[in-house]
Amino acid sequence: MKQTVQVIRILCIGFACLFASQSYAAELPDAKTIQAAVDKAYKDYKTLAEGANADYIPALAKVDPNLYGIALVTADGKLYKAGDLATEVSIQSISKVFTMAKVINESGVNSIYDNMGVDATGQVFNSIVAIEQNQGAEMNPLVNPGAIATTSMVKGGDGKAVWDSILNYYSDFAGRQLSVLDDIYQSEAATNQRNQALAMLMKAYGHIEGNALEATDIYTRQCSVGVNAKDLAVMAATLANGGKNPISGKTLVKAEDVPEILAVMATAGLYDDAGKWLYKTGLPAKSGVGGGIIAVSPGKFGVAVISPPLDPAGNSVRAQKAIADISNALGGNPYQIIPH
Ligand code: GLN
Repeated sequence: MKQTVQVIRILCIGFACLFASQSYAAELPDAKTIQAAVDKAYKDYKTLAEGANADYIPALAKVDPNLYGIALVTADGKLYKAGDLATEVSIQSISKVFTMAKVINESGVNSIYDNMGVDATGQVFNSIVAIEQNQGAEMNPLVNPGAIATTSMVKGGDGKAVWDSILNYYSDFAGRQLSVLDDIYQSEAATNQRNQALAMLMKAYGHIEGNALEATDIYTRQCSVGVNAKDLAVMAATLANGGKNPISGKTLVKAEDVPEILAVMATAGLYDDAGKWLYKTGLPAKSGVGGGIIAVSPGKFGVAVISPPLDPAGNSVRAQKAIADISNALGGNPYQIIPH
């Protein structure tokens, strides 16, 4: 009798340990449920006609506003999609995440922290006031001044070598060779005097070591890289998978450095609307004025939507709605835990 009680006790402790060691974040649902969530978000917002294309870069105003594509790639590399996955738009500010990742990979997490900082500005992405508040510090790599300073930190010698290594790094994230959309680059390069001014101020305050105008030009090129929704989803899934591209198997950032990248995306990825976004979804994300948004559910998936019309903060209207619905349907919010 005593022995039976002992066996039962051991079994109970065993089961308790088994459950205690389980994650209390819900697992991703099955493939059918994921595809259904993607299809529903596509259908629900296909005819939504809110927002407007960015037009301060003239070529962006000419992009088809009806373009709409959704891609979700799980952390183990499975693709779910709806709509247009072929058409490329310019990556724009989403590129800032991957240049930050490159600098962190080359120079460590403190390099970013110690230069432009990792605090939200609460200002628009090309704010001059945000620089003036703290002489170019206490901001982050996802607003233009911090992003141009981040680009200036990329190692590689001359401008051409730096640019080649940035483009190759983005291509490794996407899992295919990417290239610049030349009409977008020419259009932005002809009209980027404000970014040049931001860069010169950052130089004046000691946040850019080399040539500030060359850094602005490389930054303009990085913003003009063409991507489709699948490329962006694979890039996001690489961050969801701890820095390793789940399709190519290539490690692009050390797993221990990914939390810092996601933290900056969470606090500043959607600019001055980052708080609202985080409140609704809990997801680190990044938008671009080309109409793309990526979001990362750590350990689960990367998701991307392309739809050019933007809200006043510069974030794609359809992309925000579609990603929020998909993630909430799949339990993507990392703060959502099943209680013990
Ligand atoms: N290339 C754009 C700029 O510098 C990027 C801005 C964005 O996507 N928010 O203004």
